[in-house]
Amino acid sequence: MRIVLLGAPGSGKGTQAKLLVEKLNIPHVSTGDLFRAAIAAKTPLGLAAKEVMDKGDLVADEITLGILKERITQNDAVNGFILDGFPRNLIQSEMLEDLLLELNMSLDHALLIQVDPDEVVARIAKRAEIEGRTDDTEEVVRNRLNVYKEQTAPVGDFYKEKNIVTEILGKGSIEDVQERIQAVLRF
Ligand code: AMP
Repeated sequence: MRIVLLGAPGSGKGTQAKLLVEKLNIPHVSTGDLFRAAIAAKTPLGLAAKEVMDKGDLVADEITLGILKERITQNDAVNGFILDGFPRNLIQSEMLEDLLLELNMSLDHALLIQVDPDEVVARIAKRAEIEGRTDDTEEVVRNRLNVYKEQTAPVGDFYKEKNIVTEILGKGSIEDVQERIQAVLRF
């Protein structure tokens, strides 16, 4: 099964993806995690990405597509994957379409997790305390939310036109949201 998780920063995409991995036995592919791993390994890609990420802006599309392609063409992704954080704009949505066509694959679901903006800010503040992400500071979060609104929100409409979007209410406990997702995926 090939799934795209959509939703604002802090909507719980990563948390829900990790729970789905246990059920579906397919990898969680988070472009943010891939960039953070590159930063930790101090690769040239990581160094270039860090500067952009620390401002809350988007890393260049071609670079992001490159790390995504490298990941989803690994053996553990032959039966599917859960994308988290990609696509982040309409250009990336088109790039993903082309890549999947080239790989003879298609998406089964785009799940859009809906959370109130106030709730998102509160959740990120909590995550900042726990994880200490350098892009979870108030000013950077504000920019990330703007980037989401302007560039990423239209991605939902892109997949709505393809009739593969389901909106998931992001309210309640982690388990509540996971149950709603599993009801959509029917397992
Ligand atoms: P995330 O962990 O998904 O919140 O991503 C953290 C940061 O990584 C983002 O704010 C961007 O700077 C960068 N990033 C992650 N995914 C993408 C993407 N698909 N395109 C461009 N930049 C990305």
